[in-house]
This record gives sequence, C-alpha cells and structure tokens, in this order.
Amino acid sequence: MERVIVIRFGELFLKGKNRDYFESMLVRNIKWALEGVDCVFERSQGRYFVENFAEDDCDEIIDRLKKVFGIHSLSVADKVAVRADEDFPDIRASLIRAASERAENAEGKLRFRVTVKRADKRIPMTSAEIAAALGGSVLSLGKFKVDLTDYDCDFKVDIRENGFALVYTDVIAGAGGLPVGCSGRGMLLLSGGIDSPVAAYMMAKRGMRLFAVHFASPPYTSEKAREKVVELKDIVSAYTGRVKLFVVPFTEIQLAIHKNCPANFMITIMRRFMMRIACRLAQRFECGAVITGESLGQVASQTVESMTCTEDTASLPVFRPLIGMDKDEIVDIAKRIGTFETSIQPYEDCCTVFLPKSPVIHPSLAAVRKAEAALDVETLVEEALAAAEEC
Ligand code: ATP
Ligand code: MG
Repeated sequence: MERVIVIRFGELFLKGKNRDYFESMLVRNIKWALEGVDCVFERSQGRYFVENFAEDDCDEIIDRLKKVFGIHSLSVADKVAVRADEDFPDIRASLIRAASERAENAEGKLRFRVTVKRADKRIPMTSAEIAAALGGSVLSLGKFKVDLTDYDCDFKVDIRENGFALVYTDVIAGAGGLPVGCSGRGMLLLSGGIDSPVAAYMMAKRGMRLFAVHFASPPYTSEKAREKVVELKDIVSAYTGRVKLFVVPFTEIQLAIHKNCPANFMITIMRRFMMRIACRLAQRFECGAVITGESLGQVASQTVESMTCTEDTASLPVFRPLIGMDKDEIVDIAKRIGTFETSIQPYEDCCTVFLPKSPVIHPSLAAVRKAEAALDVETLVEEALAAAEEC
C-alpha cells in the first residue's frame, strides 16, 4: 500500500477548447509549488496525483497545494492493489485502518456509508454489491452503523482500470479560482499595508500573473520598510507564483510636488505619479492592467473624485478588486493568507511622508491638472523609472 494525493481540478472543465491551455498552466503551477519537496507529480487516466513522498512531507504538500488556484479539491488516499479474482483484501485492510482511526475517539456508533466507483469492468460485481461487501468489514469493527443518507463518514473506494484502487475518506477544499497565468499579466501597486497583498491574492485567484511595483522614499522610509514589502511579496507568492517586484525611488517626485504644488493636492498628485510609473512598467512587461488595493471611501484618496484624478493618468485598465469590501472583510482574507501580521508591522510608508494637514477629499480634475502644471512630469517619471530596482 502507498499513500498518494489525488488532485481534482475546478472551473477548468467549463472552458471547452481552452481546457488544454488552462490545464498546462495549472500543471506548471503545481510543479512550481512542489519545488524542493521530494515527490512525483503525474497524470494517470485523466487525474493528477502526487506520489512517492515521505509520510512526514504529506502535510507540507497539502498545505502548498491548497494555495494553488485552479485546484478544486484534494484527498489523501491509500493506493492499493486490486485483483479481479480476490475478495479485495487490500481495500478492506485500508478501510479498516481508516475506520478504526475515525472510531478511536467517537462516542457511540458512527454512521457510515461506502461509496464505490468501478472503472475496472473486469470485476463482475456491481459498485453497489462491492460497497455492501466492503461495508461488512467496517461493520465488523462493532463501532459503526450504516446510514446511506445521513452519515458521519463516507468511505470512498475508486477502483481504477489498471489494477489498483484509491481509498479515502476526506475531501479537502482547494483554493478554487483559475490557474495563475491564464488571465494575462497585471502590475500591482504593492504598499506595505494590509490591502494591496489581498488585492494580489484576489487577482491571482482569477488567473492573473503578477508583477509588482513599490514606491519608497529613502531616507524618509527605511530599509526595514522595504524589507517588509519584499516579505509580503514572498508570502503572497505561495498563491500567486513568482512575482517580480520593482522598487521605485519616489523621494524626488515628492520633493518636487511639495515644493511646487498646493499642499492639499499632495496626495492626489502623488497618486497620479504612481499610476503613470506603474503603467509604464506594466507596458514594459506586457501587463494588460494595473491593480491597486483601493476600497471605496476607505481614506481621502479613495473617493470617486480622487480615483478619477488618479485614473486620468492611467494608460491601462485599473483593477481594484477590493473596491466594494469592508476593512473587516479585507482583514479576514489577510489573516487567512498569512500577510496580516507582516502588514501591521509599524514601518513608515512613502504616503505618510509629507502628509498634508487637510488633503482634498473631492478633488476636481481640472484643479489637479492645473496644480500639476508647475512640474516637469515626463522628466520626473523617466528619472524614477531609470532608478527602479528589482528586488
Ligand atoms: P494598503 O493597505 O494597501 O497600504 P491603504 O489603505 O493604506 O492600503 P493607501 O495608502 O491609500 O491605502 O493606498 C491605496 C493603494 O495605493 C494601495 O492599496 C496600493 O495599491 C497603492 N499604494 C499606496 N502606497 C503605495 C506604495 N508606497 N507603493 C506602491 N503602491 C502603493
Ligand atoms: Mg498604504
């Protein structure tokens, strides 16, 4: 007997002709996720399996696979031999082992059923007959009673065509979504806050491959603040796959705005520069969209008017996957994906440097354009881009 992990794909199956393409993306992402773990990932009869792993690595493999978008569900199964001329001794042994584990701490009798799928038609018994026969082994433990509709345990036996069966009980939910890479590329504006890593997760879930840009303001923002952003990128990459992160120095631009523009437009004009630079970088890497972690009304720069002023400088569609979410909902996701604890570490962000006392909350586009006219926008953008560093 051998332990294997069965991988089931999700939405993929709805995609008709694109299926092969989606599947190849998912296979590539799974291989990437399993890098460094000693195991074999393979396809057999239309299903994917992870095999030949050490028992101790099982939880780690499951944990990694649970973060791969496009996987619908997973099961850890016993792979056992089946011979048509035998009374399923290996399947029974596996069932008894699984059932005994279940019964260990149970009070009273557990209700159960056995569900059999039989692809191997050389076996003369029907699936229902096999299920009834195997159920007898579970009953012999004296700790179970049969209930086909309202059960505590559903022991599944999947008899495959090539002389073996998979025996498992639990179905573990996968991350769902679409394989990363099948919905094009996006450039994420990644701050050190709670929201933008969650935005990364949301877009990767719909199959977008991510690049990221972070604006730093040395010496006003520290090396630690930059390390925090790199750490967030690394955490989120368990879901998104590899992310190329660019850190763009923003201090010169902030100083220029500070010196030449009305103080209350500081934030709005900063956002416009971030958007311009992000779009240029996006085009360099053939990204079709720019992504932010904005949520409507969360802060002054996230009103409809502020976003209109930012979007005015965008040359690509701007995706804001958190736009309709409450902070609580965003925090829940951040905790679940493991970015929250890093996000709340108190390092300075470039946006908090030169923060005006009273930023405009509902800026008019005409007024912002006029306020910005004092700046040599193109040179500032070019210089910042030239100083971008990959981290
Ligand atoms: P977050 O938790 O993502 O920092 P926030 O509530 O602090 O969000 P803002 O600071 O207004 O909101 O930022 C809104 C969005 O602008 C962020 O989600 C991010 O996409 C982008 N952004 C803000 N600051 C930076 C930065 N220093 N570098 C890159 N992008 C940034
Ligand atoms: Mg922020």
